[in-house]
Amino acid sequence: MKIYLDGKFVDANDAKVSVFDHGLLYGDGVFEGIRIYGGNIFRLEEHLERLEYSAKAILLQLPMPRAELSAATCECCRQNNLTDGYIRLVVTRGVGDLGLSPWLCAKPTVFIIAGKISLYPAEHYEHGLSIVTVPTRRINPAALPPTIKSLNYLNNILGKIEARQAGALEAIMLNDQGYVSECTADNIFLVHKGEILTPASSQGALKGVTRSAILDISQELGLPLREVNLTRYDVWIADECFLTGTGAEVIPAVKLDGREIGTGKPGPVTRRVLEAFRRRVLVEGTRI
Ligand code: PMP
Repeated sequence: MKIYLDGKFVDANDAKVSVFDHGLLYGDGVFEGIRIYGGNIFRLEEHLERLEYSAKAILLQLPMPRAELSAATCECCRQNNLTDGYIRLVVTRGVGDLGLSPWLCAKPTVFIIAGKISLYPAEHYEHGLSIVTVPTRRINPAALPPTIKSLNYLNNILGKIEARQAGALEAIMLNDQGYVSECTADNIFLVHKGEILTPASSQGALKGVTRSAILDISQELGLPLREVNLTRYDVWIADECFLTGTGAEVIPAVKLDGREIGTGKPGPVTRRVLEAFRRRVLVEGTRI
């Protein structure tokens, strides 16, 4: 496997960053998880835009323009003969000293891994996931906006650990006001009375690239979609629920905390959205 690291392609064994890199010391950096389907990188421009916004929000100057990042991402897929897989693009603050000061980091570290991911077993796409609500709250946007896709994922990891301890693969995280924000690594959607509902990013959700594809799909399918504050009650009485993410794609959730959502089976709207998503990924994106 060839890894892109600071302008060069190196073998995976030689792809090493310094122990003084602030990405490692402090989680100071930003990243993207991106999918490639049939040689098309799904919504690469949107991912790169989010990366730019994340970097801007933490005052990290990206060391190369978008066109170069895009070219490096495509080349990394070509070098690895990857036409279907998962790409991780990471920009850290770079090598500094043992203090926090980002201004002592001379230049950001950039690396790209073009590999594989399989998040949930195939049967869950057919029968749906059982999810739980975890006690750990999603971080308050006033402390660290969840719209920044930063290397600081400990909040989500705590949620993930609690989900696993409760026997679930994914979990709802509430914000500090008790509203549903998102899942540990996925956005969440409900279907109620023919409408698709999802929390606004102001409730502590990442502006998911898959989420934004769902907004487009809802228009394509003529299904009304609204961003609203959601509580666990809204999940309890929803007709359907599905989760979205680059790794997860679109996956039905059929139980929350042991309660069936709707009929307890993936619903018709979720199926239509999933099919529309699968059609879209083959045609949308950047050809490598
Ligand atoms: N929320 C969180 C916390 C995430 O980490 C992710 C990405 N896995 C998502 C939502 C979904 O975003 P995207 O569709 O851009 O992958």
